[in-house]
Amino acid sequence: MTTIAFIGLGHMGTPMSKNLLKAGYDVIGFDLAQDALASLVQSGGRAASSIADAVRGADAVITMVPTGTHVRQVYEGDAGILAHARRDALLIDSSTIDVETSRVVHALAAGQGFAMVDAPVSGAVPAAEAGKLVFMVGGEAANFVRAELVLRHMGSSVVHVGAAGTGQSMKACNNMMAGMTAITLSETLALARRLGLDDQKVYDVMTHASGNCWMLQSYCPVPGPVPGAPSNRDYAPGFAMALMLKDMRLSQKAAQAVDYETPFAARATQMYEDAVAQGHGGRDFSYMFKIVSGED
Ligand code: NAD
Repeated sequence: MTTIAFIGLGHMGTPMSKNLLKAGYDVIGFDLAQDALASLVQSGGRAASSIADAVRGADAVITMVPTGTHVRQVYEGDAGILAHARRDALLIDSSTIDVETSRVVHALAAGQGFAMVDAPVSGAVPAAEAGKLVFMVGGEAANFVRAELVLRHMGSSVVHVGAAGTGQSMKACNNMMAGMTAITLSETLALARRLGLDDQKVYDVMTHASGNCWMLQSYCPVPGPVPGAPSNRDYAPGFAMALMLKDMRLSQKAAQAVDYETPFAARATQMYEDAVAQGHGGRDFSYMFKIVSGED
């Protein structure tokens, strides 16, 4: 049986690791939070006492931690993955982090003879639970082939984007688009209301017209038209405003690194900064509708 070490059993890592258990893998997890470990054990996984303990016998190591700083913490140093994993283990980082840090970690891993991919995901907790995440994978083709065998048990789409770090580049572009769309769509829907249009009629027309987009069709920021959308549960996430701010900042960092100006995205990032500063970081990012419509 293939053994997978899973580091970072939070909102995303827990359901992802459980899908690997369902697929028949031996999963050994490590997290700083004891309750996360207990939940994995309840589902048939094993709890490690340290990163070293988790990765020592693993064929693959998956990391799902918050930021690039956390990724470097779990990979580097005497207690880290690179010091304790088997040299033939495949390393998969699914955290959403900045492109530069991803490339640094790739280079450190390659320097020690490891095969690695960056494989961030699109899709929030429900997609993680359903095994329907979208994986965007950066790394050598041979490493992708190995990673795909594992990732397909947690996702509905696994795409090889290109070389090391391009998974993170892809993620930054996708979420920059989603972050901007949430605001432009919210402005449009707020204007429609002021013009006396009914939310449902706007939805019915626009989803069949040139204004259609995923955000409107599947995640509508006004309550009503899409029953499962966070707007119908008082904007409980879903995907938290604070996480969208994090991803918008990553997109701006990526743009700066290639000396490209993204004025719309820069303005959108500022609006997420303001929303989080006003205490809305824990709400779903579609709460932007309430803010731009003046209903907040
Ligand atoms: P989370 O904060 O719920 O979980 C992160 C886990 O990492 C925590 O349980 C934490 O204890 C653990 N951790 C941190 N440092 C550690 C260390 N040194 N050793 C072991 N464990 C450590 O975060 P999440 O929502 O699961 O997100 C994880 C990543 O996935 C982030 O990069 C996030 O941007 C990305 N992401 C999240 C979502 C979402 O909807 N939540 C969607 C797509 C991508």
